[in-house]
Amino acid sequence: MDCEFDVTIIGAGVVGLAVAAALARPGRDVCVVERHAAFGQETSSRNSEVIHSGIYYPADSLKTRLCVRGRELLYALCRDRGIPHARRGKLVVAARPEERPDLEALLANGRRNGVEDLVLLEGGALAKLEPNLRGEAALLSPSTGIIDSHALMRHFEGAARQGGAAFLYNAGVVGLDPVGGGFDVRVRDREETDGFRSRVVVNAAGLRADRVAALAGIDPDRAGLRIHPCKGEYFRLRRRAATAVERLVYPVPRIKAGGLGVHVTVDLQGGLKLGPNAFYVSAFDYDVDPGHRAFFFEAARAYLPGVDPDDLTPDMAGIRPKLQGPGDGFRDFVIRRETALGLPGLISLAGIESPGLTAAPAIGEIVAGLVAEVL
Ligand SMILES: Cc1cc2nc3c(=O)[nH]c(=O)nc-3n(C[C@H](O)[C@H](O)[C@H](O)COP(=O)(O)OP(=O)(O)OC[C@H]3O[C@@H](n4cnc5c(N)ncnc54)[C@H](O)[C@@H]3O)c2cc1C
Repeated sequence: MDCEFDVTIIGAGVVGLAVAAALARPGRDVCVVERHAAFGQETSSRNSEVIHSGIYYPADSLKTRLCVRGRELLYALCRDRGIPHARRGKLVVAARPEERPDLEALLANGRRNGVEDLVLLEGGALAKLEPNLRGEAALLSPSTGIIDSHALMRHFEGAARQGGAAFLYNAGVVGLDPVGGGFDVRVRDREETDGFRSRVVVNAAGLRADRVAALAGIDPDRAGLRIHPCKGEYFRLRRRAATAVERLVYPVPRIKAGGLGVHVTVDLQGGLKLGPNAFYVSAFDYDVDPGHRAFFFEAARAYLPGVDPDDLTPDMAGIRPKLQGPGDGFRDFVIRRETALGLPGLISLAGIESPGLTAAPAIGEIVAGLVAEVL
C-alpha cells in the first residue's frame, strides 16, 4: 500500500470510532485500522450500555470530567440523530445500615463532581418508587440512562466516513516504526502484510493498548500502560412481578473490588440483566461460568428480596481493560501524547474502562485537540 495518512486510529471500538468522527474532515486523511471484520467486536459491545452520570470518581479525574461532558454530548447526539436510548434513572441502594455512610459519601462526591440532580431517599420513599426493592436508603440519579451502543457506533462510523475517513477491517496492526516525525504502520490481513506512513497514530486498541504501545518501542510497565484484564459476567434476570424494576439498580460501590458492584440494568426492551462481577484473567474468553449463579443471586437478593435462583440464566461477559492491577488503588484514564518518550505523534488511550462508553464523545474532543497540536 503506497500511501500516507495524516492520522491513523488503531481500533474501531466506540472510542476509536468517536475519535475518528471527531477528526475526519475534508482535507485531512484519516484511517481507522481494525483487526476484526467489523466495528465493536470487543469491549464496546460487551458492557452494561449505561450512560453514567459521573458520581463515582475523584472530582479532578479524567474519568469524572469526561463522563460528565460525555453524558451531555451523548444525550444531545441521541436526540439529534435518533439513537435509541432511555433516561431511566438509577438507584444506588444501601441495603444495610452500615452502608449508609458510604451512600452519603457518594452523594457528596457526586455533587462535588457537578451532578446536580441527585436525591437521597429514605427506605419508605424507595419502596414507593420501586416496590420490589428493599433498602435502608437510596441515592436517585435521574440523569443516568441506557443507550443502544451498536447504534451509537454505527453513527460514529457513518460520521467518520462522511468526513472522508477510510476504514481498514480485518487488518491487525503488527508494526509501528517511528520514522521522520511519523510512523511506518504495518498491517496484516488474512493473507499478507502491508504498510503505509502516518504522521499521527492514535492507540485506541482497548485490551491490547499495551501491546500496541510495545510495537512503537514503549515498555508498557515503565510507561504505566500495562493492561490488567478484568472480566465481568452477566446473568439474564427473568422479569416477574417480584423482580420487575423500572430504574437501574446498583449496590453501594466498592471501587477497590474492581467494579461498581453487581447491578440490575433494564434494556431498551424492558429486559433485565444482572452483573457484572469482577475478576482478573490472563486470557480473553467470554464464557459465563454457570457456577457463579449463587454469587449473583446473593448479590441481587440484598436489594431485590423477591428474586429466586431460577430467575437467573447465564448471559454474556465483557473484559475491562484496567490499568489498576489486583489490590491497586484508583487509576485514571490515560490520554496523552507520548512526547516524553520521544514520540510526539503517538497518542495513547489506555485504561479506557467504565465510564468509557459514556465518555467516548468527550474523548473524541480531547484527542482532536491533541492532534491539532501536531498537524
Ligand atoms: C463489563 C463491562 C461493563 C461496562 N459498562 C459500561 C457502562 O455501562 N457504561 C460505560 O460508559 N462504560 C462501560 N464499560 C466500559 C466501556 O465498555 C469501554 O470503556 C469502551 O467500550 C472501550 O472502548 P474502546 O474502543 O476503547 O475499546 P474496544 O471496544 O475494546 O475497542 C478496541 C478495538 O481495538 C482493536 N484492536 C486491538 N488491537 C489491534 C491491533 N493491533 N490492530 C487493529 N485493531 C486492534 C480491537 O479489535 C477492538 O475492536 C464497561 C466495560 C465492561 C468490560
